Amino acid sequence: MSTPGRFDLLIRGALVVDGTGAPGRPADVGVAAGRLTVLPPGRPAEAPQVLDAEGMVVAPGFIDVHTHSDGITLITPGSTPGGGELVWASVLQGVTTEICGNCGSSLFPALPGRLEDMSRETRISFGGEVGIFQDFAGFAARHSARPRANHLASLVGHGTLRAGVLGHVDRPATPAELDTMCALLDLSLSQGAAGLSTGLIYTPGTYAGTDEVVALAAVAARHGKPYVTHLRDEMSRVEEALEEAVEIARRSGAALHVSHHKTAGKYAWGRTARTLPRIAELRAGGMDLTCDVYPYTAGSTSLSAMLPPWANDGGFPALAARLADPAERERMRRAIAEGVPGWENTVGNGGWDRISIACAPRHPEIEGRTIAELAASGDADPVDVAAGLLTAEDGEVTIISHSMVEEDVQRVLAAPYAMIGSDGVPKPGGRPHPRWAGTYPRVLGHYSRELGLLTLESAVHKMTGMAAARFGLAGRGVVRDGAHADLVVFDPATVADRATFAEPLLPPAGIRTVIVGGEIVVRDGLPAPARPGTVLTT
Ligand SMILES: [Zn+2]
Repeated sequence: MSTPGRFDLLIRGALVVDGTGAPGRPADVGVAAGRLTVLPPGRPAEAPQVLDAEGMVVAPGFIDVHTHSDGITLITPGSTPGGGELVWASVLQGVTTEICGNCGSSLFPALPGRLEDMSRETRISFGGEVGIFQDFAGFAARHSARPRANHLASLVGHGTLRAGVLGHVDRPATPAELDTMCALLDLSLSQGAAGLSTGLIYTPGTYAGTDEVVALAAVAARHGKPYVTHLRDEMSRVEEALEEAVEIARRSGAALHVSHHKTAGKYAWGRTARTLPRIAELRAGGMDLTCDVYPYTAGSTSLSAMLPPWANDGGFPALAARLADPAERERMRRAIAEGVPGWENTVGNGGWDRISIACAPRHPEIEGRTIAELAASGDADPVDVAAGLLTAEDGEVTIISHSMVEEDVQRVLAAPYAMIGSDGVPKPGGRPHPRWAGTYPRVLGHYSRELGLLTLESAVHKMTGMAAARFGLAGRGVVRDGAHADLVVFDPATVADRATFAEPLLPPAGIRTVIVGGEIVVRDGLPAPARPGTVLTT
């Protein structure tokens, strides 16, 4: 910007909610060369594009701290408006930065000799040929070659890292293997990955003991980057699992971020009344500890995660062989009925009637139905139904698990250190969880405006400034002079989610304009042609 008062884009007449949690205030916002200037309302200024935002809120673009969108733009033609419903669902919500690589699963790093083996697993996890990369730089280069509307950052997934060194095996890492894992992690963090994530309920992450994770989290700590964890148990042993995470943070020195905090399953309902005070106590004692949450009482994961960890030892080929063996299948049935120490048994904590099929590419007719219904209609045992489906679908079955209660979700949403993350799993086909298209408008509309659980400013802070601070996204998540021009303009009176379990990708109401790097990517609620999104390094 050469002349003061000249901008590329000017937003007039809005209420600026700046992402810090401070009260909204009337202001104009100028964008020049991808950066922001906040102006007193009505200050004379010029720009070739002026947006009249009377009655609207201007906020920093939302930062989705928890996605599984690692590969979706690599398999879907995201550059064509309407050609990538899954790609656009996030952007149309107002998300200007996605953080992927969560729950221990990322598209890097791995030793060169492991890449071929792993591409099969990642195809199952991500629903297409997304590739697998030796390090963050390789991942970033591949993404940079594909046009995208919003920005992407990635954590280093421990499960991927472990499989990329040891393979998909149920045993401790040797000291040499652990050294190799630490070196690969160190390299990717040096290249700009945002932190370390674990998914300690998922194989192969679950095969790791606490000491292994401490060693890796210490590498993240040296980079000043967080340890981000899907706890080893979010059900009846959630408190022990939280204590393990706290121990990892203490011994490694890493900041701790608990992913999609929940207390799921009938034995853990109401338990946020204990986990949240514990987190508050740790924070008061000086621990750098935060969490994220999505605004739904249902979760989503893969059907194979309903089986005990030993069943998945060796990856899908080994699981398929076990499913075909009647004695092994009987062992699985018993494990689910009786539980296995140290394993989060989703079915045992809820029941097959709470688990519905989100995506089964070769059996779309069963999508939306529960395993219990399918079993009853075929007069079959639910474990056999699940086994048959996994076999027929080559392991590619995603489920939705109605495992939580509203009071827990609200308690976590209201916690002052809880930020918003969708946990969206954009995989082609089927009916994904609606959180990928509805999370942010749902918090703003349902939980803030309708229920009054959060002020508008607090809700926005949880989607922006708090997230940027946690993940080291400098100059983002705030509306202030000199900040990156990632913005969302929405109507506070009408903003609402419309995505449902039946129609999970319906775009929201009230999200009018989304701006990334100073360019309009959503105009009047619809995709615009610009593709300014980049891979962010921290
Ligand atoms: Zn997770």
